[in-house]
Order: sequence, then C-alpha cells, then structure tokens
Amino acid sequence: MKILSVNAGSSSLKFQLYEMPEEEVLISGVFERIGIGNSFYTIKLNGEKIKKEVELNNHKDAFEILVKELIDNNVINSCDEIKAVGHRTVQGGEKYDHTVVIDDSVINDMVKYSSLAPLHNPASITGINASKEVFPNALQTAVFDTAFHASMKEVDYLYPVPYEWYTKYGIRKYGMHGTSHRYVSMRMNEILDKSDTKIITCHIGNGASISAVKDGKCIDTSMGLTPNAGVMMGSRCGDIDCSIIPYIIEQTGMSAKEVDTVLNKQSGLLGISGVSSDSRDIEDGIKNGNERCKLAQEMYVKRIVEYIAKYYVLLGGCDAIVFTAGVGENSISTRKQILDKLTVLGVKIDEKANDIRGVEQKITADDSSIPVYIIPTNEELMIARDTYSLMLQG
Ligand code: ADP
Repeated sequence: MKILSVNAGSSSLKFQLYEMPEEEVLISGVFERIGIGNSFYTIKLNGEKIKKEVELNNHKDAFEILVKELIDNNVINSCDEIKAVGHRTVQGGEKYDHTVVIDDSVINDMVKYSSLAPLHNPASITGINASKEVFPNALQTAVFDTAFHASMKEVDYLYPVPYEWYTKYGIRKYGMHGTSHRYVSMRMNEILDKSDTKIITCHIGNGASISAVKDGKCIDTSMGLTPNAGVMMGSRCGDIDCSIIPYIIEQTGMSAKEVDTVLNKQSGLLGISGVSSDSRDIEDGIKNGNERCKLAQEMYVKRIVEYIAKYYVLLGGCDAIVFTAGVGENSISTRKQILDKLTVLGVKIDEKANDIRGVEQKITADDSSIPVYIIPTNEELMIARDTYSLMLQG
C-alpha cells in the first residue's frame, strides 16, 4: 500500500512516498519557494537526485507535479494508488494525543489552535486542502507534533502564573518535535531491547528541544507554549527572564511583536555570535579565533547540559541519551563538548565512535555509566506508520 508522508511549510512541501508495511521509501523530495517566485523542486529516486525549476503558485501545483513525476517515473499508474496522505501538523492543543483521520472538526480545531502556532498551523491546513483536492479518494491524517507530549502531567506542563491563564487562555507547555522524540525514543528502546526505560532525547537542529521519556511516554520537554522555550537554538533564545521583554520595550520603543521576532530570529547562536545561526559557521568561526562564536557555542552547550541534568534527576536516572536532528546527528564537536560536561555522571565518550555524521551509532565507551547514541530522526516514517495503522482500522 502506497502512503504519502508530507510536511507543508508556508512556501515548501517535503514529501516521502512509502510502500507499506515494508517501509520502503519509493521517492522523496521537496518543493521550495512555492508562491514566492523562482520555485523549484528536487526529487530523489533510485539513488538519483533530480532538480527542476518550475512555476509553483500554490501547494496544489506542487502536488499535481508530484503526481506527474510519479506517473512519468512509473512509481504509480494513477493517483488513486496513493491510498493515504499523512500530514505533519504542529499544534494540536490539549485535544490530540494521537494521530487522527482529518475531518472538518480536525481542521476547525487546527484553525482554533493557529494562534499558538501562527507560522505552522495555517501552512499545514493549506497543505491538507491542496492534498484533498489532488487525492480526493485518499485517507488524510494529521500527525501532531504536540501529541507525544500530551502525556505530561499538570505539575510538569503548567507555568507558575495565575491558574486562570491556563483555563481561560490555554497557557501551558505543549512542546514540539514530538514525532521526532517519539521515533528516536522508540528506536532507543528497540536497541536496548526493553520498554521500561528512562531516556533523554536531544533533538538539536536549527530548532532544538530535549525530552524526558519514561517507559515510552514523554514526562517533560523543553519547548513550551511556543517553540521559543528551553535550550538556546540557532536563532531563538530559549529560556530567558521574561521581564526582559517589557524592559527592552521600554528602552527601545519596539513593539511586543518586534521583540518577539528578535527573540525568535535574531537571538541564540546568531544573536551572541553576530555571525550565523548555523552551527557549521560557528565551528568555522571558532577555528578562526572568533571569540563571540566561542562564547555562543559555550552558552549553547551549557544550556543543553542543564536540561540533560534536570531530566536525569526528574527521571531518577537514565538508561540512554539520544542525539538527533541536524546538529545532534552531525556536529562531532558539539556532541563531544556536551558529553565532556557529563563526566560527573560517569559518561565516557568514545571519541573514535563519535567521529561520525548522520548514522545510528553508540558514541560512548562500554564502561560509560550511560550509553549515548546518535539516532537519525525519521518523522516521515512515523507519519507513514501512524497513517498505515489508521488505514488498517478502516
Ligand atoms: P530544522 O530545525 O530546520 O529542521 P535541522 O534539524 O535540519 O533543522 O538542522 C539544521 C542545522 O543542523 C543547521 O542549521 C546546522 O546548524 C546543523 N548542521 C547540519 N549539518 C551539520 C554539520 N555537518 N556539522 C554541524 N552542524 C550541522
């Protein structure tokens, strides 16, 4: 059965087509710059990468070109062969703790929760509507990023603000990257060959979040009401003293929205280094003796270590730590700096094993108190698996 896994951004559409239950990726790719000119797409098929420039006015154009490519490349004979489309969606509020079949009420809820994810939920809805037009007979599912974190308890998801802010305005921690934390923690349990585990998952990409996962369920995560909470990120500040915001408004005359933009887009590694939000550029800056890059990296590592320490205590120990996403999978030096700070817990890095990018591997010595693994994330596969199991349920 062919299942399409998609991730729609406001001007992009990433996809992977799976043959299920074999979990074979038939084709994958991304459409970029949709609706903003100079659009193009890249497709990976049979180990070959094809890039084509094409006019993409909207997401429907992208899906239609995808169908044409699939037919031209003999992946399918007609679009009805795609039995289901699973959509990565971000904010499912308190209501969605698992993947669901999309109907009007799900769309209405996504609209309702858009104020909590103003960049993401509208983009997902655009993708879903376009997909329904191009694949009218396929089952459409929504895989919420927040769902995996729905298992958190009140004591962990509430902020110490007036309780009415929660009941009236939904102010609480929702978390993000849930599908990634779910995938890597599940995979970690498979490797450990047990399910009653205490795992700390570090999804460190451009956006970054850390989760504490007990017996396969998330008990706490570092992102909050919005993605700008927790650790320091590429361009987001993460946790800061919230009174900085009114103070800087008073000092500069910026609006709250402008300050929020600075905290999301011009802070983190970029804000401190003044160079870049990309950890590769920070590494280069450090090699060239740039002191601000060095400082940015030290702050970045410190904040990740603080969360690992916090979750180690919360979990009452730890069976494994997982690194995933762009930095977690690829930055040899960031992983080493983090693990070096965990020697107090008895963590011992295996430098040779750590000298690797993007593959599943244990990177600690056999006598390390906690094994640490790189596990490349695979949100697309989780989306395909969830969607397939909903198809089986009819
Ligand atoms: P997003 O949050 O946008 O999904 P990704 O998980 O794709 O981000 O991570 C992107 C980030 O990964 C880049 O900004 C860069 O900082 C980091 N990265 C990618 N490759 C490397 C590498 N070889 N070395 C260090 N960092 C890397």
